Amino acid sequence: MRIGILGGTFNPPHVGHLICAQEAYFQLELDRVTLIPARIPPHKPVEDEPGPAHRLELCRVAVGDGDASSYPVHPEQPELYFSPDLGGYGWCFRKQGHLNVGFGRLDARGLPSATAEFVEFLKARRRIPKKAAWRWRGHAYLIAAPTGRRIVDDGVILIGDAAGLAYPQSGEGIRPAIESGLMAASAIFSAAGRYTRDQLDPYERHLRKRFGVSRLARLLSHVVPDNVAVGLAPRLLEAPWFVRSVLLHRWFLHAHEPGIALAPA
Ligand SMILES: Cc1cc2nc3c(=O)[nH]c(=O)nc-3n(C[C@H](O)[C@H](O)[C@H](O)COP(=O)(O)OP(=O)(O)OC[C@H]3O[C@@H](n4cnc5c(N)ncnc54)[C@H](O)[C@@H]3O)c2cc1C
Repeated sequence: MRIGILGGTFNPPHVGHLICAQEAYFQLELDRVTLIPARIPPHKPVEDEPGPAHRLELCRVAVGDGDASSYPVHPEQPELYFSPDLGGYGWCFRKQGHLNVGFGRLDARGLPSATAEFVEFLKARRRIPKKAAWRWRGHAYLIAAPTGRRIVDDGVILIGDAAGLAYPQSGEGIRPAIESGLMAASAIFSAAGRYTRDQLDPYERHLRKRFGVSRLARLLSHVVPDNVAVGLAPRLLEAPWFVRSVLLHRWFLHAHEPGIALAPA
């Protein structure tokens, strides 16, 4: 184990000390940096000495309980990492003292090994400490597919994940859940107490038009073999125009879509 020791008076410890510790941690590839306040500083007397025990306590407070605020993931810059076959992606983003790490894949069977690989990848690149530990939380859910499930019946109307509406490229489903909820409310209102399948059908048509997988995508899913997609993906991910215009703006930010309207147009 490689341990760095940062000694000092620490009267008081401040952000400069923490930056030094963090830089040493990453640049020297250490496993840990320990702050050790000098009991009797050798170079100069301590001004307004609060006592070594107090300075030690301040160091403990400054370092915290090992939260994520010292990780190199920038809070303003979420990080996304794609599987080489574009069949899944992982993310890593920081909000104050919390680091959110996740991984999703289209094929449930490949998930455990792909997730483990992703964690090793993050550790090797020192995005997360080697000894980081957490409990995964999450669940499987449907994404929009060429042959979606039936979403209305007599007295039944499905929205969001239950209707299988999440965007197939990103797996994001919050916006479709909200929009479909608004559309369903409107359909229920229009049905005016007669909740038969026929009466609720316009909701399904409207939803398919809004979130349905396009005919072109349906066609491509039949004619583009999987191995071609696997071969193409790494090249696409190296092309800045693809990453910016397609992947970020279209697939994740949905910059081409208008804001959510309270009533269907
Ligand atoms: C790990 C992870 C990360 C994700 N990240 C994003 C993201 O960054 N952006 C994004 O857009 N989407 C994301 N998604 C997808 C998104 O969470 C879902 O698509 C979205 O929440 C669907 O909303 P919903 O209302 O249809 O379902 P849910 O949000 O799942 O809500 C259904 C609710 O019904 C409750 N429920 C279930 N059964 C019963 C019952 N019998 N009685 C009463 N209540 C019940 C559940 O507890 C739940 O609260 C993520 C999903 C996962 C798993």
